[in-house]
Parts: sequence; structure tokens; C-alpha cells
Amino acid sequence: MSRFLSKKYADLTPYVPGEQPKDMQYVKLNTNESPFAPPYAVAKAVEKEAKLCRLYSNPTCSLLVDKVAEVYNVKPSQVLPTNGSDEILHFAFMAFCDKDTPAIFPDVTYGFYEVFAQLDGVPYKKIPLMEDFSIDVRDYFGVNGTIFIANPNAPTGLALSAMQVEEILQNNPDTIVVIDEAYVDFGGESVVPLIDKYDNLLVTQTFSKSRSLAGARLGLGFASEKLIADLNAMKYSTNPYNVNRMTERAGYVALCKQAYFDKKCKMICENREYTASALKNLGFTVLPSKTNFLFVTTDAIDGKTLYEKLKEKGVLIRHLGGERTAKYNRVTIGTKKQMDVFLQKVQEVLKEQKNGKNV
Ligand SMILES: *Cc1c(COP(=O)(O)O)cnc(C)c1O
Repeated sequence: MSRFLSKKYADLTPYVPGEQPKDMQYVKLNTNESPFAPPYAVAKAVEKEAKLCRLYSNPTCSLLVDKVAEVYNVKPSQVLPTNGSDEILHFAFMAFCDKDTPAIFPDVTYGFYEVFAQLDGVPYKKIPLMEDFSIDVRDYFGVNGTIFIANPNAPTGLALSAMQVEEILQNNPDTIVVIDEAYVDFGGESVVPLIDKYDNLLVTQTFSKSRSLAGARLGLGFASEKLIADLNAMKYSTNPYNVNRMTERAGYVALCKQAYFDKKCKMICENREYTASALKNLGFTVLPSKTNFLFVTTDAIDGKTLYEKLKEKGVLIRHLGGERTAKYNRVTIGTKKQMDVFLQKVQEVLKEQKNGKNV
């Protein structure tokens, strides 16, 4: 920290992204990216668009927004594309959190919520998940704040039904409820269809996971026209060109290739169930996941040690630490082949552990 940093950031603890090491080729199961390349048509369209880089992108992203509206059956005025969904989440903190409307989110969830609250200097409150890491929706009734819920939740992988989310909405008619659907395409229930019914609902989604475009940085917000207008005020006060022209084009073409992604999501779900049952056979506790990752633990080896041993063997998973989650690891679901390597290495580590080697 230099002596010039504003005092208001003295206590800020920035978000720590999952490692992207370059020292060797890992089986990379640590940042919930897709193991599949986007369709070739996406790369081709991006290449063509790059030739127009001299010109600013379209600040309204109308090509993309109109396509989103068609695919999701909403109005263009109910959609806002952003630079990853992290950006729209930040806009929501800027626009809807304040001294008398603190941010409210579970104690175990996406780490960025707390970072945004700190960055923007808004008060926040964490509501503990149940013992089994599930959310009791009643904990969120009438809480008098802006609620942020990842559904399905990360890093647990557990999901609320659309009906449960609706209960939260019904019990908070005068405050904003943000539902972060980063993983919804892997088996969750989306509440995008509820934006007409609830003027306090903001739903965010991302192209980073199910649509193989993490590096392109594209997220979406869905909400009533008035909320989108508020969020646009944040966008036009920070970066009107938040979505670059290559990314807008990539998103547009990706949406034209829905069948491709549906197929890939189905494969991920199959690989997830395959991996979950194999891990259970090895004595792991595996939370039921509706995402492209598994949250797992075993009494046979401590979470951090398992992470370290697997890294030595060329398999990267995510160890998050944290009071309630230190025993656990988060494992991104990759291809069947990657999961077989992962399972093989897990067995090796467990065997070494049992034989007293490397302890
Ligand atoms: C990955 C993720 C995001 C944001 O992803 P972007 O790459 O910024 O779109 C948001 N919420 C959750 C819960 C995530 O896991």
C-alpha cells in the first residue's frame, strides 16, 4: 500500500481469483471454467469484428440485447449486458445498497459480495447457512436490506427452487433481491420469468461458465425496466463501453448456438454425477450439486493437504479455506477424461496417506 492510497480503502481485502499457473500443464479444475471450447463460429466472428477495433463499441449493445430478449423471452429494456457478471453485481451494490439498506448475503457464498460491500463502504450482514450448508429462506424474510443470493450457491453447489426464491421476494416487497444465476444452466431453476411480476428482482447470469466465454468477460442483468435504468446510470457513470465489440459479437453468436451449449451442459452434468458417485465410493462426502463443480470432503485427509498433494500430481482444484469450509475442496467438472485423471490421482493420494508416506 502506498502512502497515497485513500484512507477509505485501508481495510479493503481484494478478491483473490483462482490460480492460473503457467509453470506446468495442469488438469485444471479450480475456477469453474468450461472444459469445452466455444463453437468455431464464435472465434470466427470475433476475428472479423476485431478488424473494426478502431471504432468504439455500441454502448447499448443492441445486437446482443435484442438476441438476449428473443432467447429469454423478455423485453430489450429489461436486459443489461456487462463486463462479466461481476460488473453488474457491482452496479447493484452501487445502486441499491446504503446505510439503511445494507447488503445481506449468506456467510458461505461468492466471495465477491463482501469485497464489493467493502469497496463501496456499505454495511453488510452475513446470514449463516444451515448446518448442512442449505439456505433456510425464512432467514431472509423482511430483513430490510438488499439481498444477494447465488442460486445455485457457490461454493456449495446447492440450489433453491424457483418457488423458494419467490417466497423471499414475496416477503421483501420493498427492497431489492439479487439472484446470481451464474450456474443456473447446470440444473437450477431460473427466476428470469419472474421479472415482470416483481419490480424488485434483479437476476444476473454469465457467459463464463456454461457458455465457455470466461475470457471474453460477458454477464447479463435481467430486471424491470426501471431497475435496468438505474443500473444503466451506474454503467454510464463508470464505463459506457463496458462490453467491447468482440465480446458483444461473441455473445451474440453464442446465443445463436444454443443447441451446442445445451449439449455441453448435459455432458458436464453427466460427468458431475459420475464423479460424485466415484468420490462417494472412495469415502467422500459430496454435497448434491446443481452446478459445474462439486464441494467435497473426507475424514481420510485434511482439505488443504489433499489440494496440495493433487497439485503436486498435476491436478488443480480449489481450496477456499474459511471457517466453515476449510475441510472442503471445490472441484470443477471437466471432461470425462479429466475427471478420470482426477479420480486416479485422488486414489493415489489417499493410498499414500494411508501408508503414512508424505504426511
Ligand atoms: C463465476 C461467478 C460469477 C461471475 O463471473 P463473471 O466471470 O464475472 O461473469 C458471479 N457469481 C458467481 C457465484 C460465480 O461463481
